[in-house]
Amino acid sequence: MKLTKLIPALLSVTFIYSCSTVPLTGRKQLSLVDDSQINQAAASSYQQLLSSPETKVIASGTDAQRVKRIGQQLAVAIERYLQQNGYADQYKFSWEFNLIQSKEVNAWCMPGGKVAVYSGILPITQNDAGLAVVMGHEIAHAIARHSAERMSQEMAAQAGGSIVGAATNNKSSANIINALYGVGGQLALLKYGRDQETEADRLGLTFMAMAGYNPNEAVTFWQRMAAQKNGASQPEFLSTHPADETRIANIKKAIPEAMKYYKK
Ligand SMILES: [Zn+2]
Repeated sequence: MKLTKLIPALLSVTFIYSCSTVPLTGRKQLSLVDDSQINQAAASSYQQLLSSPETKVIASGTDAQRVKRIGQQLAVAIERYLQQNGYADQYKFSWEFNLIQSKEVNAWCMPGGKVAVYSGILPITQNDAGLAVVMGHEIAHAIARHSAERMSQEMAAQAGGSIVGAATNNKSSANIINALYGVGGQLALLKYGRDQETEADRLGLTFMAMAGYNPNEAVTFWQRMAAQKNGASQPEFLSTHPADETRIANIKKAIPEAMKYYKK
């Protein structure tokens, strides 16, 4: 199934036209969707996931606490940065960080700050810094509004301007988010572009540094992730996040910028 299958549902999202700027990289991006509507849809999709009988949320224990602690550290650092750089009023977060029991090697952050880490990724993150690499990267996709950007690109390509004034429907917005992030056992439709991945790496390194984690740890994390390729079945995370030499080389190039924010 491709993202274009979502077009009928996308048409029910309130259409707006604006141009936003990605913090830190300064890249201008097209935005055809309403952030507050997307955030609301994400919150309800996230709630659906957490309350589903098929989802086992790991609510206590060392690993669950690590996910929440590192998430909070990242959130505090990011919000401080946005505040200091005049971006604060563009964002409304209601952060949540949950660890989900699953063999899946996966993690994501929905718009508005709803984060899920699947326990299958913990053997690869190995330590706090490794977890900060993954969470910083996924949160960066949300800060850079990459999923809204993907939706906007689809809408622009498929529907042009004809959908101006389409009706608002929160239920179908939540269905879009479910499909994008693979909530409810379906395969996630959301596949970020290569440029978005590079941007999320760059932002993620900076965010982890701001939160007190050494960005150099990202290199060893992605090397461990790359080594998973040799296993019997390749994790889903690797198909959306190629851990190849280009990625690792780009990360090395971005480390000096991130180190400026790193205080021991
Ligand atoms: Zn990514």
